[in-house]
Amino acid sequence: MPHAYLFSGQDGVGKFTTARAWAKMLLCQNRLQRPGQTPFFDSCGACDSCRLFESGGHPDFQPINKELITFTKEGKNKTTPVKMPVDVIREFLIDKIATRPQMGQHIIYVIQEAEKVNDSSQNAMLKILEEPPTFCVIILICSRLETMLPTTLSRCHMVRFGPIDTSTIIRKLAEIGVQEPENAYWANFSEGRLGLAIEWASLKVKGDRPYQIKCQMLERLARATLPDTLELAEWMCTAAKQIGKAWSSTRENISTTDINRRAQSGLIQMVILALTDALKLHVGVPEPLVNADQPAVIRQFADQYEPEMLSLLISRMVDLCRWVEDSVNEKLIFEQVLLNLTHSDIISLSIR
Ligand SMILES: [Zn+2]
Repeated sequence: MPHAYLFSGQDGVGKFTTARAWAKMLLCQNRLQRPGQTPFFDSCGACDSCRLFESGGHPDFQPINKELITFTKEGKNKTTPVKMPVDVIREFLIDKIATRPQMGQHIIYVIQEAEKVNDSSQNAMLKILEEPPTFCVIILICSRLETMLPTTLSRCHMVRFGPIDTSTIIRKLAEIGVQEPENAYWANFSEGRLGLAIEWASLKVKGDRPYQIKCQMLERLARATLPDTLELAEWMCTAAKQIGKAWSSTRENISTTDINRRAQSGLIQMVILALTDALKLHVGVPEPLVNADQPAVIRQFADQYEPEMLSLLISRMVDLCRWVEDSVNEKLIFEQVLLNLTHSDIISLSIR
């Protein structure tokens, strides 16, 4: 068994879920061998270790994320940075690596968002990736392989995670009570990222669901004219904030700033998908519409914009998603969304 793994793939395809299942199985005191075409080992779910694991308090399972910054020696009152802080890697991995397991044979470290570990921290980790103590298993979770140093990659056993097919996501969402056409929308929206689909579909935003916000938003955007810009931008801003707030309350291990960014990008992504649908109508692509639940709204978008304008608008929306990543003020971003949609000629100069 390798002692260092790198799980790579987009966010929301099950890397952390798999790391947890793997860790739980390794730590289990009564491992079961499941029959089948390829027999495999599984955790029992009933022993002391499994129960402790499920309660979130297993001492030998150590997830490492940038939110741990507040628990480092110098980190009191620090806010979560965008990058993984060096102090977290040093204090929660390197300094601890010789610590023996408390309950069983293994201790498992899972480094979340490894793509945010900078080069000098990666260099500091090399020795332990090369030769960790025999009882250690280290799993790096990474959504952008190009950020990892070749020296890190060469020391890890690589496991790649691909997107999950749409029909599986639709079925999984139906299992948790999300019905047509909502489940189909989130399955397409998430592009194979089941975790992301589940998160959006399960959110409750002041009694509404994000799906209802999406329907309302597209309806309003399809009818928007220049005088509506400020009011609608404000409306989107508020919607993003409310989604962010609801989301934060379900995810303690992600910073509020990151969640708010995801909510903002999510709304812009919804606009991109609607514009793409309108483009599909124009060019007669046989693929079903992502917004098949709102055909009249998509028709309105298609009537308003020529195909060239639609592709230009889509690329501008993609640019605005980058603004979100760069922490540009959200009000400014949503105003740009609206200004682009309602008065594209003028804005082509200011946005470039
Ligand atoms: Zn067990």
